[in-house]
Amino acid sequence: MDTARQATTYRTGRVLPAGGSAHVCASVGGQGLNVGIVDAANLGWKLAAVVGGWVGEDILDTYTAVRYPVAARLLQSTRARIALMRPDPRTRALWEMFSGLMDLDDAHRYVADMLAGMDVRYDLGDDHRLVGTLCPDTRLTPARPDPDVVTAVTRSADPLREGRRPHGPVDVDALLIRPDGCVARALPTGQDLDATTLVRAPGAWFGQPV
Ligand SMILES: Cc1cc2nc3c(=O)[nH]c(=O)nc-3n(C[C@H](O)[C@H](O)[C@H](O)COP(=O)(O)OP(=O)(O)OC[C@H]3O[C@@H](n4cnc5c(N)ncnc54)[C@H](O)[C@@H]3O)c2cc1C
Repeated sequence: MDTARQATTYRTGRVLPAGGSAHVCASVGGQGLNVGIVDAANLGWKLAAVVGGWVGEDILDTYTAVRYPVAARLLQSTRARIALMRPDPRTRALWEMFSGLMDLDDAHRYVADMLAGMDVRYDLGDDHRLVGTLCPDTRLTPARPDPDVVTAVTRSADPLREGRRPHGPVDVDALLIRPDGCVARALPTGQDLDATTLVRAPGAWFGQPV
């Protein structure tokens, strides 16, 4: 039986469902809670920003825009896994073919990233491969941030006050990370982090300051 259901919108005025109130599906794959927690992380700082008065209410609409597709995809992949569990000979043959594909590194990584939620990428209007993704696990070393940049960022996002320089395999000089862990901007190695870029497009990253 297909138990998958999803709210048609994640915002109706002051009603903003998250987790199990926004999407339910069979527990195969064990992703429901993970996706619900990221819903809450995505919504939490936006609510705090609106309540705190440092961005306009429009930012709450971005919650549906970015989180609805993630759960819709979860429901689809859950349906696929349920379908693969049917006991008939045809489905068993399909399962064996699918299992064989899992021996291929790329196919394995595709499914593993999907299950771990690491393939999520929000459209923040930037082609850099890290922008819109949840920040990969990487060591950050303190950097001395440009005062203009700090001013630009803190105008839009109160909690962001400290500069950190990524360390390790991530090929960037700096990352601007939102409170929900999403990379809002990545500075490719060797490029200047200029404050005007931050001032020009804060809406895509933090909502418009009020
Ligand atoms: C068998 C099973 C195994 C699972 N395994 C995994 C797993 O391995 N990994 C994973 O990520 N996810 C898993 N999930 C999914 C996960 O449990 C859910 O995604 C998660 O619990 C949703 O959390 P939630 O807080 O959003 O909602 P819920 O856990 O459903 O919490 C909602 C709460 O609100 C209460 N409530 C409802 N209506 C009202 C009301 N009117 N007034 C007051 N209180 C109310 C309910 O009693 C409940 O306590 C599994 C689910 C099942 C059923």
